[in-house]
Amino acid sequence: MSFDLDDTIIPSSKIFPTEEQNWLLKILGIEKIRKGTITLFKKLRQQGHTIYIYTTSFRSSFKMLLTFRLYGIPVDRFINQTHHNQQLREHKNRTSKYPPAFGISIHIDDLPGVGMEGEQYNFRTIILDPEDINWIETVVLGLGKQMYPSV
Ligand SMILES: [Mg+2]
Repeated sequence: MSFDLDDTIIPSSKIFPTEEQNWLLKILGIEKIRKGTITLFKKLRQQGHTIYIYTTSFRSSFKMLLTFRLYGIPVDRFINQTHHNQQLREHKNRTSKYPPAFGISIHIDDLPGVGMEGEQYNFRTIILDPEDINWIETVVLGLGKQMYPSV
C-alpha cells in the first residue's frame, strides 16, 4: 500500500493534529507528521503490509527516508514525482498517480480526484478527509474492504 504525503500524512495546505517532535527533529527542521502515523505504520508493518510513500512532490528519497527514520517509522520505498515521471513514461499513462505501475495494490490520498482516477484506471484508493480525526479507523476499514472485496 502507499500513502500520499501532502495533506494526508504531512499538513501542507490543511491543518491537523501532529505527532510530538523531540529536540533533534526540531533542530533538523523535520516536517511534522499526522498524529497517529507512528502507531498506524508500525501496526501495518506488524501485519505484514508493505508501506510505500507516493508523493507528487519533489522531496528527495533521502529527505523522506531521514524524516521517517527519525520518527522511527518503517517505510519500504519512497516514490516522488521524478520516479513517477520515469516509470510512467514507460506505461504511457496520464494519471496524476498510477500505483499499479509500482506494484501497489491500494493508495491512500486526500484528493477526491485521485479516487476518481482510481475508478477510471482500475486501482483501489482510500480517500481521507484531512479533517477526519478518526483517519486511522478510516484506513483500517478501507483495508478491510480491500481484503474482502465485494466483487
Ligand atoms: Mg495530497
